[in-house]
Amino acid sequence: MSVKLQTPIDYLKGVGPNRADLLRKELGIHTYQDLINLFPNRYIDRTRYYKINQLQRNNADVQVVGKIIAFKEVAQKRGKRLVGTFQDDTGTMELVWFRGQKWIRDNLKLNKPYIIFGKTNWFNGKFNMPHPDIEELEAHKQNLRSAMQPVYPSTEKLSNRGITNRVIGKIMQQLFIETGGRFTETLSKNLLTELKLISKSEALFNVHFPKSQELLSKAQFRLKFEELFYIQLQLIIKNLVHKTKIKGFPFEKVGIHFNTFFKEHLPFELTGAQKRVLKEIRADLGSNAQMNRLLQGDVGSGKTIVALMSMLIALDNGFQACLMAPTEILSVQHYNGLLEYCNKLNIRIGLLTGSTKTSERKIIHENLENGDLQILIGTHALLEDKVKFKNLGLAIIDEQHRFGVAQRSKLWKKGPPQSSQKEDAKSVQQNNGTSTPPHILVMTATPIPRTLAMSVYGDLDISIIDELPPGRQSIKTVHRYDKNRLNVFKFIKDEITKGRQIYIVYPLIQENEKMDYKDLMDGYESISRDFPLPDYQISIVHGKMKPADKDYEMQRFIKGETQIMVATTVIEVGVNVPNASVMIIESAERFGLSQLHQLRGRVGRGAEQSYCILMTSHKLSNDSKTRLETMVRTSDGFEIAEVDLRLRGPGDIMGTQQSGVLNLKIADIIKDNDILQLARHHAKTVLKNDSILASPDNKVILDTYKSLGKYKNIWNYIS
Ligand code: ADP
Ligand code: MG
Repeated sequence: MSVKLQTPIDYLKGVGPNRADLLRKELGIHTYQDLINLFPNRYIDRTRYYKINQLQRNNADVQVVGKIIAFKEVAQKRGKRLVGTFQDDTGTMELVWFRGQKWIRDNLKLNKPYIIFGKTNWFNGKFNMPHPDIEELEAHKQNLRSAMQPVYPSTEKLSNRGITNRVIGKIMQQLFIETGGRFTETLSKNLLTELKLISKSEALFNVHFPKSQELLSKAQFRLKFEELFYIQLQLIIKNLVHKTKIKGFPFEKVGIHFNTFFKEHLPFELTGAQKRVLKEIRADLGSNAQMNRLLQGDVGSGKTIVALMSMLIALDNGFQACLMAPTEILSVQHYNGLLEYCNKLNIRIGLLTGSTKTSERKIIHENLENGDLQILIGTHALLEDKVKFKNLGLAIIDEQHRFGVAQRSKLWKKGPPQSSQKEDAKSVQQNNGTSTPPHILVMTATPIPRTLAMSVYGDLDISIIDELPPGRQSIKTVHRYDKNRLNVFKFIKDEITKGRQIYIVYPLIQENEKMDYKDLMDGYESISRDFPLPDYQISIVHGKMKPADKDYEMQRFIKGETQIMVATTVIEVGVNVPNASVMIIESAERFGLSQLHQLRGRVGRGAEQSYCILMTSHKLSNDSKTRLETMVRTSDGFEIAEVDLRLRGPGDIMGTQQSGVLNLKIADIIKDNDILQLARHHAKTVLKNDSILASPDNKVILDTYKSLGKYKNIWNYIS
């Protein structure tokens, strides 16, 4: 190919320095290559031409051929609008411009055939089209353009500065002229043949200038496949590298701690899902590779016991274990819960949080280093440099969506120094070279659709607890408007009379902390009035309180001394008070779906029928309505996650930031799920047959993979 795709976009005819600058800033287009990868968001069918007397009042995109026969200016409240009378052989309509009027007057000619395209409005007994896409009929006919007209991503700035969709189309056309439309193939012959894919050049041409719907579909399929194929290839390679090169401690046996607990202290029969997941974890721990596993399980599915039993395996093999939770409340709760079992098993367990006193802290540090302390529970405080383990073999992160990847990697480095290990330098190759990483188990109650998880957490293995412990009643969920508050209060009173406890949660959104705090306090006051002492006791917990005060209030609620817990979302994760059976969520329209689901999971933990009441004002956006309806309809975390994903896109789901799925150029992680599966399957097969991509047929894959650049480090491992 004569033209290099790495050529800066400035060099393309018709672009120039100003436009190049805009393209760079607004669309991230620096080179020819970037431009060719600017894929249309959608296509408009322009096969049909309308006559003015055929226009309907349905506000769809239409195109009409005709002439402007007159211009007039119409004064309006602010400024004026320019109106052109547009005529064909069946009637007239109006074209309206609110901006850019001078340009229109200077450039559009009267009585010359134009083709206009846009949405029409019905106004004052006439059709009009505001800011039509307009082009001389002659030019329109000559364009390299087809029936399916691409609509490119744009920004306000671009269109204001004259880089309209049509201009981008023209630039694209120029690019195809300069390159001759020939582009290097990026998939192997085998794949092309087996999947009957069209060539790269054909695909690129037809995605930008589709000759027919059929060719467009083929082009899109091929390009989406390619994109997903290379992401999957990267993820699988990463995972393989991990398994073969990163050595872990083999926990060969299951010993006295595990067995005693299992036989004598397990308070209930494990669910099938818990058993299966434990088996998966045991298999990992028993192998030579370091475990890096994600445990997904809906709220209340019983992840804690799995965590405990995994830690017992570590202890049985002479190692320490730790469990990190995102909040102080949750850490304390885990500690108290596990302390009971540990006492029975003669295991020494410690708690380390931000509010641990310096003197206690010192003792904990010492006992960790000399190995006296076997299990450590805590918050981020665990990550501090001063916290050194004698031989940390397993680190568990609870509610991992609250932590970042950085924190996971910090835990990696808490393993014992290598000198204390048996020398096996060849196989131990991890990032800092000074320690063997502990096995890592991250737990989350934010269900991620499995396929997305696969793409996002490609470097983690995934276990899923998809079964709740027996005997759980489903939580009745309703949506109530603020004006029904009195009924809701009456309901609360009845439940309290039955001996139940109630959560009332207010939103806390960082940007508006002051207002939220006021909402919370106002709410607390009004609740205190309606539920007066001495009949009712109320706890309050929010982010501004000192940890000790929070804990005190929390403990009162856990012990049943208070009947109502008024709180912000600090209560969201993990808190377990089985007697609490009603969750009231105030301003529920302001919460995201996964947060609502988490909050609801705080109830329904005991034997009683539980309720979740979503309180909202009357004004609701469509998205809010969908969220509320979803909550009322289902309690299936995975279904909720799917809806959430549809509403928000993958961008907000934890972990997606780190993976490639966000930067997809043409594929859609949700809609193109089938192609994703296919791509993954083929990526696996290619690697299975030729793990280092050495065969001649795979050379093109190897070259493309390398040119993706970003993952060079990983490539070094394997080649
Ligand atoms: P989560 O997965 O949300 O962290 P927990 O581990 O807190 O859930 O468990 C929720 C509740 O269910 C706890 O009270 C726990 O004791 C109980 N539980 C867990 N597993 C079982 C089981 N197999 N049978 C009965 N109850 C269980
Ligand atoms: Mg939990």
